[in-house]
Amino acid sequence: MAALPRLPQNLMAGGMSVAVRLPLEPGAVAHRATRNFAPVEGFPSRTQHFVVPACRPDEDPCAEFTAGWADHFGAVACTEPSCFPESMGDAP
Ligand SMILES: [Zn+2]
Repeated sequence: MAALPRLPQNLMAGGMSVAVRLPLEPGAVAHRATRNFAPVEGFPSRTQHFVVPACRPDEDPCAEFTAGWADHFGAVACTEPSCFPESMGDAP
């Protein structure tokens, strides 16, 4: 598999957050962050939210970071259609 591109610049400028499966390290894949809501057990009127990758919302929760922070640690962009397909345009 080809190396994934860097995160799109506009994400960092916008301070958007991304979902990253830990550890956050060079080559870690950053996904578009989306939220799953679930009721809190024992408190039916309350919900809690989990950050999950937009391309795989059924997976276990991820950690959430700002795009700039993730990029600083060398995270790369997930190019799935529901994440950051536009980052493909930045690839060399
Ligand atoms: Zn993704």
